[in-house]
Amino acid sequence: MSKQNFRSILTGSFSTPCDDNPTVAMIEAAYRHHDIDARYINCDVKAENLKDAVAGARAMEWVGFNCSLPHKVAVIEHLDELAESARIIGAVNCVSIRKGRLIGDNTDGKGFLASLKQVADPSGKKVLLLGAGGAARAIAVELGLASAAHITVMNRDPKKAETIAALVRDNTSAKADVQAWDGEAGVPDDVDILINATSIGLGDADAMPPLKVETLRKGLIVADVIPNPPRTRLLREAEGKGCTVLDGLGMLVNQGVIGVEHWLGRTLDAGVMERTLKDIFGAA
Ligand code: NDP
Repeated sequence: MSKQNFRSILTGSFSTPCDDNPTVAMIEAAYRHHDIDARYINCDVKAENLKDAVAGARAMEWVGFNCSLPHKVAVIEHLDELAESARIIGAVNCVSIRKGRLIGDNTDGKGFLASLKQVADPSGKKVLLLGAGGAARAIAVELGLASAAHITVMNRDPKKAETIAALVRDNTSAKADVQAWDGEAGVPDDVDILINATSIGLGDADAMPPLKVETLRKGLIVADVIPNPPRTRLLREAEGKGCTVLDGLGMLVNQGVIGVEHWLGRTLDAGVMERTLKDIFGAA
């Protein structure tokens, strides 16, 4: 009898459209690097097929999957349990399957936080967060749970920003308020961390959030969620002013690391994953 095992561990992603999602390349490069017999399958799942896809993953004994647009909220009704931040954020992008039970977590903000912690602990810090979409929401909640002192959410539509500020106030120890974003905004002197969580800069290396560049200063940490291109104009301007900068690749890589920790209990080499993404984005 052969002792060989021909069954790979199954993980993957459900989203649509999914053709441009590089996560599969990043995670499978790390599986190969660690000689882990696992696959990450990038599946195009339309909204009307999400229920069947989730049931299929359970039936085929996948150990977990990521959910991206448009499934991050819709997947919740198909799950058995939610981790704390996923419950607060109201969105799930990482599902673990343990003994047939589906547990939803949100690793968007956790990935950002892991990346941020490489340069600063957000505990006690004052944050200016640009944008009020899904990424901003996840980041705000994780910063609040990590004991940030104060978060100002700045957005063109202040009502969306207020929803996030209220979530932070109601569920974490952080203080939170809102600023409407019309025209070029300045970064107040007492802000420690500036985060671009808008989509400005995605696929456009010259796009710049409307900010008064002269208010960027040495000592300020400037983080961007944009993974491609990673060296956004905001980060280039901030570097020129002596700020400490953090690109969106770290957030993406750390989400992968955290997801696989949930599924396989293994910590993948972040460097292998980052190099793979840089090759793909032509940013090496
Ligand atoms: P959403 O569409 O939910 O939100 C987009 C936000 O950007 C909104 O607040 C919107 O403001 C703001 N915005 C867009 N254009 C402008 C503009 N010209 N001026 C001012 N504000 C603007 O997107 P997500 O939150 O899901 O994603 C945001 C970005 O984060 C994307 O580019 C995505 O690629 C990136 N991301 C990166 C991840 C990573 O791992 N690195 C993970 C997840 C997301 P308004 O409400 O006024 O329209």
